[in-house]
Amino acid sequence: MDFYVLTLFPEMIEQGMRTSMTGRALEQGLFGLYPVNIRDFAGNKHNKVDDYPYGGGAGLVMQPQPIYRSYEEVCRRLLKKHGEARKPRVVYLTPQGRVFDQPLAKELAKEEELVFLCGHYEGVDERVLEEIVTDYISIGDYVLTGGELPAMVMMDCIARLVPGVLHNRESAETESLENHLLEYPQYTRPEEYHGKRVPEVLLSGHHARIDAWRKERSIERTKERRPDLYRKYEEMEKSGK
Ligand code: SAM
Repeated sequence: MDFYVLTLFPEMIEQGMRTSMTGRALEQGLFGLYPVNIRDFAGNKHNKVDDYPYGGGAGLVMQPQPIYRSYEEVCRRLLKKHGEARKPRVVYLTPQGRVFDQPLAKELAKEEELVFLCGHYEGVDERVLEEIVTDYISIGDYVLTGGELPAMVMMDCIARLVPGVLHNRESAETESLENHLLEYPQYTRPEEYHGKRVPEVLLSGHHARIDAWRKERSIERTKERRPDLYRKYEEMEKSGK
């Protein structure tokens, strides 16, 4: 899977993604990361990419032409790579989009490539959005200064679903939000910490009992912390799916 990121701050994307597990996966070539600097496509002497909003109002708006040209650059690269013209899925990160979640991450992980468009300032001229964007996605009901962090949140989450990125395939399958449940509590060494012992069942080596204990804790925790999710779990259990 290849991620292309149209951004004014490519160094932010590089620094964020080339760290820890995503950094290791990138080095191993498990997915590709290609930030494209929108400013390189400004097409004017001062590399200006924004201007005042028509109709007045606060702030600046990103202009359409540099964004369209950087999108064309991605399409050229895809043509070269695959030997055929492709219309990639283009995600515009915006607080006005569908809220990102694990099922959407799974859906997007099926794509061979994804293009992320990171807005800044007051956002992006609507006309280029209408032209190139296929998905409007938000990472939550709050407003950030730019789309780079949301793009990284999405890429981190999607990359974890790419085979080989996690050492242990199982950890993606048992963790929080799978089957509408939060994950059970985890413990590691030492056996006793500040007077608290690890639950005995986890030391028993009895796998069936451990699984049952974990399932119970998952259900209990979901009920308490995320009643909305628990309702979905109950519905799923009732429908037998
Ligand atoms: N004026 C815009 C509005 O009200 O919808 C908000 C612009 S915001 C200050 C600047 C950029 O940050 C946006 O273009 C978007 O790319 C990104 N952004 C901010 N909050 C976001 C969120 N919750 N999810 C995804 N992207 C976000």
